[in-house]
Amino acid sequence: MYRPVKVACARCGEVSMHEELGSVTNSGSADLDGRPPPRARYTMSAWLQECPNCLYVARNLSEATAEEADVVREIGFIESGLSENMPDLATRFMRRAYIDEQTGQLHEAVRRLLHAAWVLDDFEIDAASVRLRAAEMILALGEQADTELRLKRLDLLRRAMAFRQAISEADDMLKELVEPVSRKIAVAQRRAAFERRSTAMSLSEAMHPPARRGHLRVVTFPRPS
Ligand SMILES: [Zn+2]
Repeated sequence: MYRPVKVACARCGEVSMHEELGSVTNSGSADLDGRPPPRARYTMSAWLQECPNCLYVARNLSEATAEEADVVREIGFIESGLSENMPDLATRFMRRAYIDEQTGQLHEAVRRLLHAAWVLDDFEIDAASVRLRAAEMILALGEQADTELRLKRLDLLRRAMAFRQAISEADDMLKELVEPVSRKIAVAQRRAAFERRSTAMSLSEAMHPPARRGHLRVVTFPRPS
């Protein structure tokens, strides 16, 4: 599945070895925030390359714009994802998110923050602050955030236990959403937020909501005699 590749860092020239990904067979259903099933998730260590010398992070280390290369000098870059017990892989995604944010690539930054959150989920570390940052970025995108991203924001808010905010934004979205799949997702997010559920939800779960328990009552009327 992996093959080793030698890459020269576009920023400092340091040559280092990285694992390049071959094809991955996907099996199982992705979560609503796009998190792939476990089998594909194990490949996450190969999604980004990190320079062992200057710490620059990119999908391909041999490519860096002048702007991207500059960001690595900022203290904010070093501090991104630097905290106790933070897995290295999560730090890597958060540093790339920082580069993307500083160079105005907010869509990419959201994506990388999500990846960091998935790593934290796998390590059973609370990812609420990372998710809230991604949710803020989607808000900052304003009109540039499409329905998919706005639905993602609902998921991020709910997963970070900002339930009331998720419910009120779901209500706002449902006033204008027409497309049936998007509506179902918004309704499912709203319901889960109402039930204060912060766990991952799959697309199939959103499409086929479980029957409500405790609401179905069989009433028998006495037969008229
Ligand atoms: Zn480097």
